[in-house]
Amino acid sequence: MAMKNFVFLGAPGAGKGTMADLLCEKCHCAHISTGDLLRAEVKAGTALGLQAKGFMDSGKLVPDELVANMLAGTLGKPEVAQKGFILDGYPRTVNQAHLLDKALAGLGQELDVVVLFEVPRDLLLSRLTARRLCRKCPAIYNVLFNRPKREGVCDSCGGELYQRSDDTLDTAENRL
Ligand code: AMP
Repeated sequence: MAMKNFVFLGAPGAGKGTMADLLCEKCHCAHISTGDLLRAEVKAGTALGLQAKGFMDSGKLVPDELVANMLAGTLGKPEVAQKGFILDGYPRTVNQAHLLDKALAGLGQELDVVVLFEVPRDLLLSRLTARRLCRKCPAIYNVLFNRPKREGVCDSCGGELYQRSDDTLDTAENRL
């Protein structure tokens, strides 16, 4: 597949990350999830992570400038420019869309495909609250629709499964 730049739009739990992983296996492009990048900043205890954590824990959007600056660094990497990318979870506001246009124009790039994932709200809520992730590998499960063979244990690598702190019912409702 020729190099392409994708944006996946859709509510949390719509399946953007899962579909991005599948497509990346085929087209070898970079999967850029702003949620993953922000969680890595929080885990590393960086200044950005400390600023972002409160917003993320309560299910609010992290301010546009913080996310845009973080993303600009990733989009500017030579390997991303070479391979193309799938942007998952960005833009989430009109202002972010304008900032993305500017960032791409500055890099001499443009978008090729934008996909909108539309999923009914009740299904989104059950997907989010039933989602479980592996601590050791990228596998994702769902205790309603895609259970692991052994409860709490990853089928692929035996790692421990956990629930994201923002996948609780209250926070998931705020995010939606
Ligand atoms: P996600 O993994 O995409 O569900 O994102 C998890 C959390 O990270 C969101 O609830 C927001 O707090 C934050 N986040 C991710 N992407 C963005 C974005 N484009 N703008 C603002 N906040 C974001």
